[in-house]
Amino acid sequence: MCGIFGIYPHKDAAYLTYLGLYALQHRGEEASGIITRNGKRVYLHKALGLISDVFDEQIIRSLRGELAIGHVRYSTTGSTHIKNTQPFYVKSKIGDIAIAHNGNFTNTVQLHTELEKNGALFQTSMDSEIIAHLLAHSQKKDIKETVIWALSKIEGAYSLVLMINDILIGARDTFGFRPLCLGRLDSAYILTSETCALDLIGACYIRDIQPGEIIFIHKDKIESITPFKKTRCAFCIFEYIYFARPDSNIFAHNVYMTRKRLGMQMAVEFPVKVDLVMPIPDSGTYAALGFAEALKIPFEFGMIRNHYIGRTFIQPTKIQRDFRVKIKLNPLKEILNGKKVALIEDSIVRGTTSRTRVKTLRQAGAKEIHMRISCPPLKFPCFYGIDFPTKKELIASKHTLAWIRDFIGVDTLEYLSLEGMLNSMPLPKENFCTACFTADYPVYPLSGLSKRILER
Ligand code: SF4
Repeated sequence: MCGIFGIYPHKDAAYLTYLGLYALQHRGEEASGIITRNGKRVYLHKALGLISDVFDEQIIRSLRGELAIGHVRYSTTGSTHIKNTQPFYVKSKIGDIAIAHNGNFTNTVQLHTELEKNGALFQTSMDSEIIAHLLAHSQKKDIKETVIWALSKIEGAYSLVLMINDILIGARDTFGFRPLCLGRLDSAYILTSETCALDLIGACYIRDIQPGEIIFIHKDKIESITPFKKTRCAFCIFEYIYFARPDSNIFAHNVYMTRKRLGMQMAVEFPVKVDLVMPIPDSGTYAALGFAEALKIPFEFGMIRNHYIGRTFIQPTKIQRDFRVKIKLNPLKEILNGKKVALIEDSIVRGTTSRTRVKTLRQAGAKEIHMRISCPPLKFPCFYGIDFPTKKELIASKHTLAWIRDFIGVDTLEYLSLEGMLNSMPLPKENFCTACFTADYPVYPLSGLSKRILER
């Protein structure tokens, strides 16, 4: 996870980046940052916290220049610490470099070791910093060749927004794991993780950055290149299931409609006779709409969400997660008492959150609870920038369906089939990464990966 945004050239670059990051806040709540450049110098502000905590009007006004890049962080390599915030900035022999990165490299340890041997001094424990050192170590003559050389060394997942002097650069790895799209507002070009950021600032969507593409945005021209050997596409299917905002188009297709189709497919595979269909809000809402519509069963909100609490899955420690689960959703006794309920959720990671929620539904009087999950069981770690890194943490990797059903405390539990999930997607199934369900990894890490791999 992480949300990235870049704009150039626009007189309100910092303010528009601030708004864009607001729209991308769901991709990372740990830290936020913006860097701008006005042709002579850079202005940087970043800190731990949400966009609304980190920035105010005065700070935004102090970020001068027509070029800006921004980042909201959810850590997947490097702990939650002020030094590990982005955009990461260095002054180097090629000039000012700033990096906003979404994804995880799979050859982090090898590159890190090699660069350290050659004299690189690392300031952070983020894999993203490696890009800065590669750019600085390049012997190539111009910026374009330097970027190509640096990215050619990296394996794994990256969607990047870079600032090198007065050039805004966007890049996506050849598999296209994480999203990145191009938009336009007035004479400015915008690079962003999701189209909801374009909608918020009134920009139009032009197209997705293609896997393996690098785009260079100068003040007066834009240039696109695809210098790397083609690989298969491996768009993260989890963007459609859980991560992306439902009002975004990801990989050029709408998330809301896809989630609804997943719900409809669940109704085909695992219908159930109940009084009402309810989601775990907000994660299960859109699949629940599809499920209820397909079975012609009333859709109700059996739990009301407290909107002043962030998403629980993306809180980094267990204590924080447990606390948030309890205060986030309030069950509605008037809806639930004596009712048979189909409870729709998008996924189960550890199972502890679902268990707590089901307990509160029982306490509110639900007579039967039939849980339906709009993706197959999550069994394998993700090496491409999503934080369920060890098999140990994934309940479905060690337990049977019956065990999980009893642990969560529901009457029945069913997961959507792999085929059903893939058939509900708006793109052909060969385009997707499904490794966390199937262990079919498009690219393997060269050695063990973990969040604190560079802190050992
Ligand atoms: S392993 Fe799963 S979460 Fe990770 S990129 Fe692939 S589909 Fe997405």
